Amino acid sequence: MGYQTLLVERRGAIELVTMNRPEVRNAQNTALIDELDDAMRVADRDPDVRVIVLAGAGDHWSSGHDLKAYVGEAPADEWHEKRLTPEGKFDHERTQYFDKCLAIRDLRTPTIAMVQGHVVAAGWMLAAMCDLIVCADDAVFQNPVARMTAAGVELLAEIELGPRKAKELLFTGDALEAPEAHRLGFVNRVVPRALLEEATFELAEKVARLPAITAQNIKRSVNHAMDLGGYRAALEYHFMVHQFQHNTKTSLDALAARQQKGSMKDVFRDRDAGYES
Ligand code: ZN
Repeated sequence: MGYQTLLVERRGAIELVTMNRPEVRNAQNTALIDELDDAMRVADRDPDVRVIVLAGAGDHWSSGHDLKAYVGEAPADEWHEKRLTPEGKFDHERTQYFDKCLAIRDLRTPTIAMVQGHVVAAGWMLAAMCDLIVCADDAVFQNPVARMTAAGVELLAEIELGPRKAKELLFTGDALEAPEAHRLGFVNRVVPRALLEEATFELAEKVARLPAITAQNIKRSVNHAMDLGGYRAALEYHFMVHQFQHNTKTSLDALAARQQKGSMKDVFRDRDAGYES
């Protein structure tokens, strides 16, 4: 299948899937989310693929969800009407964001996120679904969505950092830079930007050398241990909290203010100024 928003390339036993919307920092619109879901499943079914590398074209890995179709700044897509009701928004975020992210985590094939530049909100969520993460030294993880009044993104990616750091970053929206992400165990390697691809493929080759069934079962077993520890149940709980939060007066007022003021940045600026006075 030819993709509009992705590049797919086979290198030996490694499938390289690259989000290819660099002009919008690989913002994830409906087309990209659907195509990524398809490309990952196709690679996963192929017995010749031992590792899938997920990359982002350009200077930044992903700026998160592309909501332009829902705020009237891009042509409406098939979810536009649905999202106008809480029920429809729930269905959209469940189907497109939550389920499709977890489907990547549940692939039998090991996955590696090859990350550089900004990894924002749903970009972070997507990277967290990969088994391994190799990042360039300029990678910055950031989730400003709580500042926009939602309770984090649909899938609580920060929980992997431990509860105290997760709360700090969600409360503040501060950036997590590559060295600290490495220290906290969120990423496996940090390398100079120029060596990102080389380092990622070196690691991918090592994983690919394992018999496929062995690698698949290691992944299955570690993920199952996390799930027994409550990881998946916590994600489910967070998704419901996130949906409730979308429908609070606080969130609806912020959305209305955004429409009035033109951008979320202006809403933050005025809200922060109000707090200071
Ligand atoms: Zn949401």
